[in-house]
Amino acid sequence: MLKRECTGCMACYNACPNGSIKMKMDFEGCTYPYINSRTCIQCGKCRAVCPALQKGDKQQPEQTIVSYVGYCTDEKIRRTSSSGAVFPLAAKWCIDKGGTVFGARYDGIRVIHSHAETMEAVGLFKGSKYVQSNIGITYRQAREALEKGKYVLYTGLPCQIEGLKAYLKKEYERLYTIDLICHGVGAPGIWEKYIKVFHRGKKIKHIDFKNKDAGWNKEQLVIQYANGGEYRRFPLDDYYDYGFNQNIFLRSSCYDCQYKGFNRKSDLTIGDAWGVEKYAPRFRDDKGCSLVFVHSKRGKELFEEISKKMKCEAVDGKKAVQYNQRMISSVPETPKRKEFYENLRKYSFRLSMMMTKGKKNE
Ligand SMILES: Cc1cc2nc3c(=O)[nH]c(=O)nc-3n(C[C@H](O)[C@H](O)[C@H](O)COP(=O)(O)OP(=O)(O)OC[C@H]3O[C@@H](n4cnc5c(N)ncnc54)[C@H](O)[C@@H]3O)c2cc1C
Repeated sequence: MLKRECTGCMACYNACPNGSIKMKMDFEGCTYPYINSRTCIQCGKCRAVCPALQKGDKQQPEQTIVSYVGYCTDEKIRRTSSSGAVFPLAAKWCIDKGGTVFGARYDGIRVIHSHAETMEAVGLFKGSKYVQSNIGITYRQAREALEKGKYVLYTGLPCQIEGLKAYLKKEYERLYTIDLICHGVGAPGIWEKYIKVFHRGKKIKHIDFKNKDAGWNKEQLVIQYANGGEYRRFPLDDYYDYGFNQNIFLRSSCYDCQYKGFNRKSDLTIGDAWGVEKYAPRFRDDKGCSLVFVHSKRGKELFEEISKKMKCEAVDGKKAVQYNQRMISSVPETPKRKEFYENLRKYSFRLSMMMTKGKKNE
């Protein structure tokens, strides 16, 4: 398997019975599994759960049944979500059933996957983090909860849902999965250096990659400092957000993502209903609107429940993705990527970031 086929889903890490797999960060700032050959017992469990090695297993049992646009009618909930707040509605449904919700949250400035049993804890998962999350042992934790008969809602990127499903190897009636329409993920090592270099000495209280204060179509990166100060930039005016949006330091597997399309292993796929004004104009209000694809019977049941708290309507999914290509295709690999990492070998981090963007923004 080529290195660039590894999505870093960490199914192998979760499956290893004796901790012989460690995730190590490479020069590009992404983590990859390394096997300790001294302790490895050659059980083959890591290979058996690797989605990238299961090449013949791309066909899903069910395809997209129906697609919707819409948003949560509670304005307070929608304001702090990145799109139309479908996620918190699904989470509430699961929590009300005594279940466990998995999602991505900050741990300091790092992004990690974690679990929540209360809506307060679920709140930390709200908001898109444009950095690859560390899955940790959440696949194991999800299995433990399912084996105890609990409801589980696992949310993540398409490659992470593939990783979870490959790890679990069997269907659980109470498992519900939601993946996101994904642009590609930013390299955690670049994000962490960016914070250390460009926000040096500042204690960070809160990060919001998709702040909607200026409107959903004019998202801003907002970093709040513990001392009360705030950094606020539009994506193209910030070094990290620029590099993320211009596809410069995404994980290498993202440029040829294998988990795009309408045929997915998740129950629901959610993303931004970009271009909604063209095909469902009554949803245009610039406060955040979701595009939802229902892939399974379980997804249909879940969406029937959460849509009671939404304004939504069915749409032609094929038409909707004309304005949101990331549902079906990967971003192109830009020559600027190679240039950035070459610069990083020669110059300081600050200078490399500034050279890539081409102008100062401080
Ligand atoms: C890296 C990334 C790229 C994206 N690219 C696109 C795109 O190109 N087009 C598009 O339409 N939508 C994209 N999205 C999805 C979109 O931004 C919203 O996250 C999604 O529509 C859910 O919105 P919401 O209002 O329902 O959820 P919110 O209430 O905002 O909840 C956010 C949800 O996203 C999960 N999440 C946040 N960050 C991460 C992360 N780093 N890794 C895994 N899960 C995470 C949380 O666990 C939670 O389930 C992307 C999201 C991410 C994280």
